[in-house]
Amino acid sequence: MRILVVEDDQDLSRQLHQALKDTGYAVDVAADGEEGHFLGDTEPYDAVILDLGLPLIDGVSILQKWRADGKTFPVIILTARDQWSEKVAGFDAGADDYLTKPFHTEELLARLRALIRRASGHTTDMIELGDLTVDNRSARAFVSGAPIKLTSHEFRLLSYMASHQGRVISRTELVEHIYDQDFDRDSNTIEVFVGRLRRKIGTDRIETVRGLGYRLVDPEDSKA
Ligand code: CA
Repeated sequence: MRILVVEDDQDLSRQLHQALKDTGYAVDVAADGEEGHFLGDTEPYDAVILDLGLPLIDGVSILQKWRADGKTFPVIILTARDQWSEKVAGFDAGADDYLTKPFHTEELLARLRALIRRASGHTTDMIELGDLTVDNRSARAFVSGAPIKLTSHEFRLLSYMASHQGRVISRTELVEHIYDQDFDRDSNTIEVFVGRLRRKIGTDRIETVRGLGYRLVDPEDSKA
């Protein structure tokens, strides 16, 4: 999953970036409204954390523009204490949730998981596919209850595919959702990651659909 953080407070931005990376997300950060709006406009994020008080373009205006342009990604707005009118303006502009500063990073992460979960139609952080379990809370995966050792890219790949299980996902879509913008994005490396992931979770769990992409499946389903 790939997250955009738009926040002009450098300390907070750095802290969020690190916490999100540690939790297994690909993260892009913008320090002003113009860059933030541009990134959200051009990249397919799985969720956005948006401060409302920003240089160049304010958060509410950014959100209005995104929604007017049909961007549906979930957005959590960050507001100053006691600014209830800001929250109302944020929700009216299309926010899905809010947090009042200062907040605990754990709370932000929990709200983010809830939004991503809802957006992909899941009810818990644990996604199960046969005896494969993907735990988005701890960023870990298990086969028959035994933990599998995954790199952060492998986990992101698996987590994204598990959230969209049964659907064919193109390599381009995978590239867009597991790498941040600074990463050297070569779609051939997706093949390498898929190969490694197959060796770790079982070859028959990831189907290659020729010319279209990959699909995560429960191998037991096709035997029935
Ligand atoms: Ca601010």
